[in-house]
Amino acid sequence: MHDVIVVGGSFAGVSAAMQLARARQNVLVVDAGAPRNRFADEAHGFLGQDGRAPAAIMRDAHCQLLRYPTVEILSGEALAARTIGDGFAIEFAGGSERLAKRLILATGVSDELPALPGMRERWGETVLHCPYCHGYEMRDHPLGVIAAHPMSAHQALLIPDWGPTTYFTQGQFEPEAAELDAFAARGIAVERTPVVELVGDAPDLDGVRLSDGRFVEVAAVFTAPRTRPTTPLAAMLGCVHEDGPTGPYVKVDQWGATSISGVWAAGDAATPMHNATLASAAGVLAGIGAHQASIRSTTA
Ligand SMILES: Cc1cc2nc3c(=O)[nH]c(=O)nc-3n(C[C@H](O)[C@H](O)[C@H](O)COP(=O)(O)OP(=O)(O)OC[C@H]3O[C@@H](n4cnc5c(N)ncnc54)[C@H](O)[C@@H]3O)c2cc1C
Repeated sequence: MHDVIVVGGSFAGVSAAMQLARARQNVLVVDAGAPRNRFADEAHGFLGQDGRAPAAIMRDAHCQLLRYPTVEILSGEALAARTIGDGFAIEFAGGSERLAKRLILATGVSDELPALPGMRERWGETVLHCPYCHGYEMRDHPLGVIAAHPMSAHQALLIPDWGPTTYFTQGQFEPEAAELDAFAARGIAVERTPVVELVGDAPDLDGVRLSDGRFVEVAAVFTAPRTRPTTPLAAMLGCVHEDGPTGPYVKVDQWGATSISGVWAAGDAATPMHNATLASAAGVLAGIGAHQASIRSTTA
């Protein structure tokens, strides 16, 4: 039996496992190898790694983790999770299982993009969700925000610091009066005719086509995808979820402990604030939390 199984081997999961490895815990990291930022050529804003490819960052992180002799990394998908006695069983394809005293779920979220032709093939390159992550590379170009959510107007207010901005309401997300005043102060144009298509040699973007046939030049568009858990493992275990602005996430305390004793969650799966550094920091807390809980359980 492992001390801890960490499901998800990306920013949150590796950070959790690293703390546990250094505490000489026997850790299994299970990773399906599909981190959320895999669509981007470069990751930005992560300490010491700015501009590196996401896969290169994670390759180095896995290599460093495997220097610890009590760590195993298993490539594959955990299909099911259940409690057994004082511990947990994680099930894989074919019915094989691994057991652990504690679990950390660092499984991230999946993005559901607005259903517009041309979105998917540009995702992470010229269709973006986070200006702090990728806005700088698009600086001084004409930029758009394709509204997909009541908070899209808030997103639009940020964008002029990177380039001249048009807010596309899609006929559904009309800004409120106070937001229109703020748009005017920030020089944001509002286009109410819906975008029906993204145009250009993907992943490059020349602009967007509107339903009345007009073309508006933009080099990148920001949007707010709906997010959903990548895996039902937390739900299978009975972890309580909360509703975030873009989708549900696992409810945790400040150490990443979920509502189920012995189960921690970290990273995008357990917060509405999605960012690699925040995911890594949450993983550190969950790893330490899971370790210290093991001490409490033996001294209680
Ligand atoms: C296009 C894009 C670009 C981004 N760029 C940046 C950026 O430049 N800078 C930044 O700070 N943030 C960026 N982000 C946000 C960043 O990617 C996330 O905040 C971060 O990846 C969250 O880390 P995580 O470990 O919680 O989840 P993830 O990185 O998504 O990793 C989850 C891991 O769990 C695995 N997994 C899931 N379910 C299972 C299962 N059942 N069994 C086994 N493994 C499983 C997945 O395969 C994956 O490897 C970007 C996001 C997107 C969508």
